[in-house]
Amino acid sequence: MRIVLLGAPGSGKGTQSQLLVKAHGIPQISTGDLLREAVAKGTELGLRAKAAMDSGKLVDDAIVLGMIRERIAQPDAATGFILDGFPRNIAQAEALKMLLEELGTPLESVVLMNLDLRILFKRLTGRRVCQDCGRVFNVYTSPPGAAAHSKECGETHRLIQRPDDKEEVIGKRLEVYEAQTKPLIKYYEAAGLLRIVAADADVDTVFNSINRAVQRTL
Ligand code: AMP
Repeated sequence: MRIVLLGAPGSGKGTQSQLLVKAHGIPQISTGDLLREAVAKGTELGLRAKAAMDSGKLVDDAIVLGMIRERIAQPDAATGFILDGFPRNIAQAEALKMLLEELGTPLESVVLMNLDLRILFKRLTGRRVCQDCGRVFNVYTSPPGAAAHSKECGETHRLIQRPDDKEEVIGKRLEVYEAQTKPLIKYYEAAGLLRIVAADADVDTVFNSINRAVQRTL
């Protein structure tokens, strides 16, 4: 299964990717996670990406494409992958198409996670991430409770707010989505790959909708 999860920040791409990983045994490739890792490690690439990330802008295509090339070439991606947060603009989509053509493994579907802007804002301001296991929670809709168990942390998570989930940066990220990422909807529709899923339902319902949407293309 080779799919892209497309959607605005806060539409649930990360949460759904984690469920898809468990269900299908293929890796999630999140450019946001890869970039945050590079920033945390203080690598040269991380230093170059940090300013754009902190202000809610897109990181240079060249940096992101280099990362994607390297990640898709890893053995665990040979049987498929879930792209989360990539591509973010038409240039990245074109580069991805060429890369996958070279590898002889074209995309199978692009799932748009459709969500109202007002809900997105609430989801983003409420989002908290466990700094140890990476689980994503929301102080309004899914706070960590007894069921929020993970192998690494048990039931005790150390939650942090991503710097770019602060209210002042969220507006910019949604603006960037509208201007640069939204054109991908038409792009993938024209390519016959687009599937649209209502992302305002509960996590399990959205997960089932995504599975049904991708099954149609397998
Ligand atoms: P995300 O976790 O996907 O919301 O990404 C967090 C931030 O990382 C974004 O606001 C961008 O600054 C950067 N980023 C993630 N993916 C990309 C991408 N495909 N192209 C450019 N910048 C990206």
